[in-house]
Amino acid sequence: MNISPADNKNQSAPDAAALRILQKTYGFDAFRGAQGDIIQHVAAGGDAFVLMPTGGGKSLCYQIPALLRGGVGIVISPLIALMQNQVEALQQLGIRAAAINSNVDGNVIASTKDAMLRGLIDLVYVAPERLLMDDFLALLDEAPIALFAIDEAHCVSQWGHDFRPHYKQLSILAERYPYAPRIALTATADAPTRRDIVECLKLQDGRSFIAGFDRPNIHYTILPKESGRTQILNFIRQNHAEDSGIVYCLSRKLTEETADWLSREGFTALPYHAGLAPEIRSAHLARFLKEEKIIMVATIAFGMGIDKPDVRFVAHMTIPKNIEAYYQETGRAGRDGMPSNALMVYGAQDAVMQRQFIEDSDAPDAQKRIEHQKLNALLGLCETAGCRRQVLLEYFGDSCAPCGNCDTCLSPPETFDGTLAAQKALSAAYRTGQRYGAGYLIDVLGGNADERITRNGHDQTSTFGIGKDMNKTEWQSIFRQLIARNLLQTDSEHGGLSMTAQGQAFLREKQTIRLRKPARRAALSRKPSRSGADASVLPDEDQTLLAALKSARLEIARAQGVPPYVIFHDKSLVDMALLKPASMTDMALVHGIGEQKFKKYGPAFLEVIAKFL
Ligand code: ADP
Ligand code: ZN
Repeated sequence: MNISPADNKNQSAPDAAALRILQKTYGFDAFRGAQGDIIQHVAAGGDAFVLMPTGGGKSLCYQIPALLRGGVGIVISPLIALMQNQVEALQQLGIRAAAINSNVDGNVIASTKDAMLRGLIDLVYVAPERLLMDDFLALLDEAPIALFAIDEAHCVSQWGHDFRPHYKQLSILAERYPYAPRIALTATADAPTRRDIVECLKLQDGRSFIAGFDRPNIHYTILPKESGRTQILNFIRQNHAEDSGIVYCLSRKLTEETADWLSREGFTALPYHAGLAPEIRSAHLARFLKEEKIIMVATIAFGMGIDKPDVRFVAHMTIPKNIEAYYQETGRAGRDGMPSNALMVYGAQDAVMQRQFIEDSDAPDAQKRIEHQKLNALLGLCETAGCRRQVLLEYFGDSCAPCGNCDTCLSPPETFDGTLAAQKALSAAYRTGQRYGAGYLIDVLGGNADERITRNGHDQTSTFGIGKDMNKTEWQSIFRQLIARNLLQTDSEHGGLSMTAQGQAFLREKQTIRLRKPARRAALSRKPSRSGADASVLPDEDQTLLAALKSARLEIARAQGVPPYVIFHDKSLVDMALLKPASMTDMALVHGIGEQKFKKYGPAFLEVIAKFL
């Protein structure tokens, strides 16, 4: 039995029907961005490629069409670990959903398969390896299929950073099930990756929906590293004492040390890196998802698809390898659209280490050169005196006006005529043979005739002591900026600095340069609320109500063994604290309360509010 275009469960026009589902089932008022168009297009049987930033709202783009079309929506995702949460969240909404993977009990799988054949289930999540098995494909031959959603679609591409060989074989979907629309979704795809996705999944006749890359609710701050730890600690204490967040570190060792130290400082901080046993990793992940106020201290191993909407901050103790990685990692903050912080501290030493990693890798030389350039772009972001968001978006081929929600917009850094300083720094590198690092050159400039310098005879060079007008910190900043602006380059092996062609031209052509004044103390200029979600709109007395609502939520979540946000998002609770609904009718106005949640939890939360009043 091949049911080509599955018969509609719903008779009215898809847009009205879609809106009804959005409001009744999900409890949201309106579609965001292109969601409405995408849903209409796919519900009508069209193929689609969707590029939307993390938190943009991709899930609805396939969930609602699947509900509208009837039959089962097959969601292909590489992340078995996250499927259960996604399924639980859907079940809370009254949507019939299940996952089929190796963590799921055999009987449950059998009944899911049966429901698929009988058209009694709305969404089934499955990893590509499972989907491609003969028996699963045979099942799909028989079942009424609403659509295929290929999540994390960049995994089909070898260009992408998460290539999964099984994803490539998903080209079979177009051939074997031509009657089922395919929608591919991703948050990260440059032009070659996009082309691969469209080609491999045969989406040429479909529509592409490319949303802007901006994440307006994320506030970006980048500080030169002074004492990395104190900076991070103050940041968390002042802004996020009550929140969940992620602290990224470069190495496993630093991850462990930082988690220990944050724990000693009174936070619940858990390490996460590839060197930990899988059971420990998944236990830490589970706690991060299910509890509140957990800080995950992680290497990049803590990665793709961390599907927690209320991560309020992402802090980088060390710089990532490029802007893509930075944007992806910071993008894990604020998926629920509420104000969130991204803080990075960076030091020259981090850049040296990243260069070392590139050189030590097995990549061909051409690739290494690209990686070095990408790292330079990241350093440029760190040192820019302009809007951070502009630099980020331009990097992805997008643009924006100065955003007003980053550190440089809110307290523009002072700049100064750095021509003379740059000339001194470049000459110091040149006169000492272009093989010493910034630390050494700063000693030469400062006239510190230590043993090494005298042994090398560098106390005799014309640049010795010509930089006494500035202190060490100032010189460090200048060297970082000269590297970021590509006048100096780091020889990766020993961290020695030499002039680039641009640096030579700078001296030869007597060019001028403006540099950013070393920041004395750039504090976070805007405090997103203490408790994370935009609770800052709440007067103090309502904060108590919010806390009571949160603890009611935690109790329910614990009893069900699901993360609190599966019950209600922070935004819903803030809304409740603000509106103080006294009746079920008022309750229905709260953000994120659809029919099911209204029935299940409305009364309990009304009671909390009544008690408070
Ligand atoms: P993505 O998969 O693109 O990262 P999600 O689909 O997980 O994003 O959505 C991010 C968050 O935004 C979720 O908490 C979701 O419930 C919420 N959301 C999505 N669409 C809407 C909407 N139209 N109105 C309000 N909230 C929405
Ligand atoms: Zn800005």
